[in-house]
Amino acid sequence: GFQKISDNTAPITRVIDRGEGIYVYDTDGREYIEATASFYVACLGYQNAELIDAIEKQYRDLPFFVSALHRTNTPALELAEKLVEIVPVADSHIMFGVSGSEALDYLIKMLRFGAVARGEPERKTIIGRQGSYHGGTVASASLTGGHHEEFGLPIEGFRHVSQCDYHGHREPGETQSEYSKRCGEELRALLDAEPEASVAAFFAEPISFSNGFKVPPMAYFPAIKAVLDDYGIDLAIDEVITGFGRTGNMFGCESFDIKPDHIATAKAVNSGYFPLSAIAMSKSLYDDLERGSEDVGVLAHAATHAGHPVGAAAALKTLEIIERDNLVAHAASMGSRLANALESVRGHELVGDIRSFGLGSGVDFLKRDDNDVPVNTPEQADAVMSAVCEAMLEAGVIVRPAGRSIVIAPPLIIEGSEIDEIVRRLVRSLDRVAAQH
Ligand code: PLP
Repeated sequence: GFQKISDNTAPITRVIDRGEGIYVYDTDGREYIEATASFYVACLGYQNAELIDAIEKQYRDLPFFVSALHRTNTPALELAEKLVEIVPVADSHIMFGVSGSEALDYLIKMLRFGAVARGEPERKTIIGRQGSYHGGTVASASLTGGHHEEFGLPIEGFRHVSQCDYHGHREPGETQSEYSKRCGEELRALLDAEPEASVAAFFAEPISFSNGFKVPPMAYFPAIKAVLDDYGIDLAIDEVITGFGRTGNMFGCESFDIKPDHIATAKAVNSGYFPLSAIAMSKSLYDDLERGSEDVGVLAHAATHAGHPVGAAAALKTLEIIERDNLVAHAASMGSRLANALESVRGHELVGDIRSFGLGSGVDFLKRDDNDVPVNTPEQADAVMSAVCEAMLEAGVIVRPAGRSIVIAPPLIIEGSEIDEIVRRLVRSLDRVAAQH
């Protein structure tokens, strides 16, 4: 995925066959620090014995049972109850899927069913943001803000506004609050151009990791929410990466004081030890679905593996460990250490911006001059990004290239000395790339 097919057999492709803590090992025996928790998933790192035991027990008790047609299984029910307790959506209801993509797809599908049940069948349009990534299925890829043309997407009913990219998109001298206001106005202009009562929801991630760790100004979500409220449009937050501690709170919504109507989660929910995703929808959407299923006679939706007992048992254990070991506070403290250590490269000749939040950082290679005008193009910055990523891999650290930046977001269990080691190797890698440029 996300590489040229011809690169599948190129030397840059590594095959990993073992992991321990924050480290993974390839088939040549080389050790890497997995400084992205493998796509922001393995929050407890590798070989967590408690988690493996919980999974093994569940395999012995009940390795599979479906949730549909008047049947379900105990771990799925218990996980739904646990999620209702912790998600930032009041009186929420949970629906399971297998992947993040499915969670987004199902939420879009439910929003449309809910609108039909409410007697607003035209309220179908979904708004996403350019550069945001929401998944690989047809609907979630349509919601994703890019790579549409080559797949004949988006399907009908999807619109996109600009990404919140203050470093890349601000006018010279524009303040964060002016920029946020401009983003709100862009959304309002888009809504004004759409037929009345045709838009169901606006989707966004609290921080767009896949677009290069774009941290919004604190004024951004209030500006967006004010517009959505004016038009009676739901706010759906994609917590697939930011959920379960990454931002220094259990959910990214809490870090940015976002009041979502619905959220989608996946990835770190069970540290990736089994595929599972979940949406938490508002009570009012749930009530619409309930009414609609009475009218139609059925909610014609299910997925065989959604709410899989092994994935649910793994999630229950992961959440227990996160809470018991105070991993959210630990992530916040390790994140501060990472942010402070990265200050040492802020003035580096290749570095244009450093954004840190929770246990995550983006080092952006788009540079601005003393007049706040960009001096290199996004394409030039992307070339530096790729070179730094390769140098980091050579130095034994896996970081994520995305949107002119490298992203560092290690497992939540990382220790301070390991953070320092990542930054030491980053400094060496930056110097190596600078010497070659
Ligand atoms: N949403 C976000 C923010 C993501 O980063 C991803 C995947 O990286 C998805 C949704 C899709 O999740 P999955 O790959 O599990 O389908």
